[in-house]
Amino acid sequence: MAKEAIQAKAIVLKEVAYKETDKLLTLLSRELGKITVRCRGVRSLKSRRFAACQQYVYSDMTLSVKNGQYALEEAEPIESFFSLRERFEAIALANYFADVLLSVTVEGENDEGVLSLFLNCLYLLSEKRDVPYSKIKAVFELRLATLLGFMPDTAVCGDCEGKDCLIWFNIAGGNLLCDKCATSEVPDVSERLLVPIDEGTLALVRYISEALDKRIFSFQCENGLLDSLSRFSEKYLLYHLGRSFDTLTFYHTISDERI
Ligand SMILES: [Zn+2]
Repeated sequence: MAKEAIQAKAIVLKEVAYKETDKLLTLLSRELGKITVRCRGVRSLKSRRFAACQQYVYSDMTLSVKNGQYALEEAEPIESFFSLRERFEAIALANYFADVLLSVTVEGENDEGVLSLFLNCLYLLSEKRDVPYSKIKAVFELRLATLLGFMPDTAVCGDCEGKDCLIWFNIAGGNLLCDKCATSEVPDVSERLLVPIDEGTLALVRYISEALDKRIFSFQCENGLLDSLSRFSEKYLLYHLGRSFDTLTFYHTISDERI
């Protein structure tokens, strides 16, 4: 069967050494979603594809496919996010984001929204030192939850549809609850995971889940509120993914964020 050539723009999520000088890369691409690609000879410094085969480098790639297996033929880096590696917190967060994406993306299933979100977060972590880590983390977590189909409902109480005293959020159902409904008896309380939510945090949750892609980071707020938002977004995403991540635990051990 002849080899077929494919052009793809892709970022390296994970790299694993393979045989003497090869690598197996897990890529997130615009055209093909998540794919695994074998790259021959790229651990040699002499390889012209050496730079493009490093973790978090985004490149224009020419791939070949034979019997369903992808191989890298050519690659030209577009963005290396080089400065990520200069700060511990930045690379720790990037590692957490990559771990989450490895867990939630499906081989061959295209999701441009998820790739764009990841690229935007890496750009801020690498180039914009004035943007707080807790803001980048919270936007990644909440927006990803929305893209995966867990958009929080932030308009009215999920039980009575009222708009007053919305001071509880049901993480499990993805909806608000008013004080009255939150304290009333329900047949099966295991369907609820209630956390208190203040007005400021709720406004940010609403903004991040509804804003246009290019506006998701266009908000200002003080650090205490960002910490509260980050606690909420983390709880929300991890609950809906049904797991936690060692890379997140590590980020918390080195971060100043008050969780
Ligand atoms: Zn209610």
